[in-house]
Amino acid sequence: MDSASTHAYDDVRRPAPRAPRALATEAVHAGRDDLARQGLHAPPIDLSTTYPSYDSRGEAERIDAFATTGAEPDGPPVYGRLGNPTVARFETALARLEGTESAVAFASGMAALSAVLLVRAAQGLRHVVAVRPLYGCSDHLLTAGLLGTEVTWTDPAGITDALRPDTGLVLVESPANPTLAEVDLRAVAHACGSVPLLVDNTFATPVLQRPATAGARLVLHSATKYLGGHGDVLAGVVACDEEFAGRLRQVRFATGGVLHPLAGYLLLRGLSTLPVRVRAASATAADLAGRLAADPRVARVHYPRIGGAMVAFEVHGDPHEVIAGVRLITPAVSLGSVDTLIQHPASISHRIVDADDRRGAGVSDRLLRMSVGLEDVEDLWADLDAALGVAAQDGRGAGRGARSTASSGV
Ligand SMILES: *Cc1c(COP(=O)(O)O)cnc(C)c1O
Repeated sequence: MDSASTHAYDDVRRPAPRAPRALATEAVHAGRDDLARQGLHAPPIDLSTTYPSYDSRGEAERIDAFATTGAEPDGPPVYGRLGNPTVARFETALARLEGTESAVAFASGMAALSAVLLVRAAQGLRHVVAVRPLYGCSDHLLTAGLLGTEVTWTDPAGITDALRPDTGLVLVESPANPTLAEVDLRAVAHACGSVPLLVDNTFATPVLQRPATAGARLVLHSATKYLGGHGDVLAGVVACDEEFAGRLRQVRFATGGVLHPLAGYLLLRGLSTLPVRVRAASATAADLAGRLAADPRVARVHYPRIGGAMVAFEVHGDPHEVIAGVRLITPAVSLGSVDTLIQHPASISHRIVDADDRRGAGVSDRLLRMSVGLEDVEDLWADLDAALGVAAQDGRGAGRGARSTASSGV
């Protein structure tokens, strides 16, 4: 096999299997279907920034074709910002898992969302309809109008009325960050009419929910979270039809928010264990949600109907003391890693959202968001139980002299 065909996208994109395959099978085979024929087992990492070609006439044609449709050039790639074969493997695999024609990867979840907004703004469709809560920075990007877009916030029932002739996008998260609120995706897709619906599927992953089958045109992931799954890759991806994917590639090429090939490799590797990780962590999360709901120190537990590895809960005591009190669980923003993380959205992930808007979206100042990992459930509960004990003691002590001085000094 010569090196040109080793690098060719047609190999990486080599189609689909003889018969539809189950998600667990796709997770370990999609994006790798050409490997055995190439005499390889692990996917190659192609770190090239540029690609030699003695045929500059052909190169010109391929660049013209890209400028027209955004389709990945046939044959070898041209330049790293235009596309990369290792990243293309991850894109192929994720598209297969989400059940879409294509997927386009970016340097982060925010770069992916920005590219979607830019595609629509370039078509003169600057108005966005969105349902709160969203991830804090997505909310901020829309509210601040940093990309020249204008947002109308509504609840799912108000979507149809909020649509305008210049509406380019409807944006929802389900389950939402950080309250795990869910929307009926089918009903929302119907309410959008011909306006593309973007569902941020970061929390559910395609293991629990495939929004494209419910009518979403665009499915977005912060791949930093469950898809990577090990807390060591920053990435984003949009799964969609090939027409929209072409426009996203054109924006990615022109604005440069590309994913590094090493990250593409790690993401493909992460996908292979995604179903196992999500199911195992979800079982532990459901167990912990039940224990928290039965605990008198906990005021309210949020756990989605579709399940998942995220649990949010409101405490009677001081949430900052729970964060300070954990020992096994890591107090950190982000989610979806093999280890359990906990954070206080009002202080960190949703700090950038105006306090009234945040509270209005159901993000209480006493809310904690926990991303459950793969540890043993009893070890996790022991840690949570101890941290909740610290918080409860602090709550009781707050009326006393020394304690109240200490807490009012914070
Ligand atoms: C983290 C997150 C994002 C942003 O992704 P980055 O990879 O951090 O840029 C978007 N949406 C949701 C739901 C997230 O949790």
